[in-house]
Amino acid sequence: MVEYKERCMVCKKAMVIIKSRRQKAVCLACQFRGIEDKPITDPVFKELFDIEAKLYEDSYFLRDIKAKYMRFGSLSEKQIEVFKKVAEEESAKLKKLAENPPKPKKSSL
Ligand SMILES: [Zn+2]
Repeated sequence: MVEYKERCMVCKKAMVIIKSRRQKAVCLACQFRGIEDKPITDPVFKELFDIEAKLYEDSYFLRDIKAKYMRFGSLSEKQIEVFKKVAEEESAKLKKLAENPPKPKKSSL
C-alpha cells in the first residue's frame, strides 16, 4: 500500500497521511473535534479507550472506532473485539520499533 498525503477535507489546511483506501482525508484535530472534551463514563469503554495517545495518532482505525463510540454512545461486540486486537498489534509494533529503531540505510557509495 502506497502512503500519500491529502489535504484535510474539513479544515482544508492540515495534510493527512492516507494509508488505506477506506480512509477519509480528515486530520487528527478535525476527527477528534468535540470528542476529547466528552468524558467517557462507561467503565468498560473507559478501559478500552485507555491506550497510548500515540496509537491514536498512528492509527486511523482506532480513531475512527473511538469517534464512532463518541457519536453513537456504544459499539458492537465485533467493533470492540477488533479495536482491542488492533490496539494490541499497534502497541506491539511501537514497542518493537522502540527496541530496534530502523537503521538508516547505508549508501553504496
Ligand atoms: Zn482538519
